[in-house]
Amino acid sequence: MDQGLRRPNLIMIMSDDHAAHAIGSYGSRINQTPQLDRIAAAGMRFDNCFCTNAICTPSRAAILTGEYNHVNGVRTLFDTLDNTRPQLQKELRQAGYQTAVVGKWHLGHGPESDPAGFDYWRVLPGQGDYHDPELIGPDGTERHPGYVTDIITDLSLRWLDRRDREQPFLMMINHKAPHRPWQPDQKHAELYDDVDIPEPDTFDDDHQGRSKALAGLKMGMGDLNDIDLKKPVPRGLTAEQERSWRYQRYIKDYLRCVASIDDNVGRVLDWVEEEGLTDDTVIIYTSDQGFFLGDHGWYDKRLMYEESLRMPLLVSYPPLIEPGSSCADLVTNLDFAPTLLELAGVDLPDRLQGFSMIDSLSGKPPEQPQTCVYYRYWEHLSDPHRVPAHLGVRTDRYKLICYLEPVPGSTTRFAATELELYDLDLDSAELINVYHTPEYAAIAKDLLAQLRQRQLEVDDRDLVARLP
Ligand code: CA
Repeated sequence: MDQGLRRPNLIMIMSDDHAAHAIGSYGSRINQTPQLDRIAAAGMRFDNCFCTNAICTPSRAAILTGEYNHVNGVRTLFDTLDNTRPQLQKELRQAGYQTAVVGKWHLGHGPESDPAGFDYWRVLPGQGDYHDPELIGPDGTERHPGYVTDIITDLSLRWLDRRDREQPFLMMINHKAPHRPWQPDQKHAELYDDVDIPEPDTFDDDHQGRSKALAGLKMGMGDLNDIDLKKPVPRGLTAEQERSWRYQRYIKDYLRCVASIDDNVGRVLDWVEEEGLTDDTVIIYTSDQGFFLGDHGWYDKRLMYEESLRMPLLVSYPPLIEPGSSCADLVTNLDFAPTLLELAGVDLPDRLQGFSMIDSLSGKPPEQPQTCVYYRYWEHLSDPHRVPAHLGVRTDRYKLICYLEPVPGSTTRFAATELELYDLDLDSAELINVYHTPEYAAIAKDLLAQLRQRQLEVDDRDLVARLP
């Protein structure tokens, strides 16, 4: 990084389950996000940012620690992050940054897992509520009347106004929305009332040729419950009409929640401009993972398919980043910590398993380009969605997914069952599993070798011997 740059302020806005394909600058066909698009217009859009485990708690732990989930100990939704472990905000604070987090935490509560290394923190208990949410701080729990996305922004801006102007800051604004159960605010309650949201191209995917493990999933339109739908299903609909009706109920509330995020991102961007901090502030927008927006007939995440695997990542910082640019480099949620630390001029600790994105942000080819993203989803058939454990690798062109099941007699040791291979250049929708196609035999073999190699490199070795 250029030595001439001052240590920038860092504002990281992270929503929960906001898929890239519901953002205007990513080419959304279903909504508009004028405020998020301001970040893209001022900075860089990453088209290949992926999470290493597509679920809330583990992704958040990977972001804060820069470590894989088998290293930071947060493999599933049911694990908590040990707050004595090294984390990004602690290292920034040590380097003289003021640090704050407001909103969703979801890494555990109590003396061992409350936020640590923050000068200011107000976090939702667990998933938190959309309306009149409680927030926990060092002095206890307080209820805040209003809508969660507005309140998280209010508290963040209030802290920013009170900050010490002599020192740079890290402000993490962690939205709850648009997480299930998708409760919009009053302002957006009637948005989309008069329109039909288009169904995605893969809405009627019958999952032919894919792993049998997918047959048991509970994340189709029929699995949306009364709380999700908020209205009884009208009588007299055909099965197909009911499915479409359920999609409209789901996607409209999801997008209404996104609309409130977009407005509130605008408030933060306005604040930065009004303070005259544009050239001194890195602004990041991301989400802990993606989401199925009716794609393949599903809602939710967890699986390694693109819609769920991809994280939106928009970054602006005028002294470094070309306005309106995009980047196709492979990056992951492990790369956030090294990037922010390097931007802040902190020497990168050895423990980090990710790579700084500074070269990509500067428009240069990365010194250490990543050629293969390693993914592992650890939960196995957990309720309510019944997604099997799986792992895999994604390169710039191919994706290998290896579904797992417990070794007989064990609940903790897994072995590979079925494999899927996708050629993303020819089949970006991932409809055709070519793992058993003879022309792809050499590629399948090579990807399996890369998967084994990655398991050794990242020290997640328990499966190496049991892969095909
Ligand atoms: Ca999430």
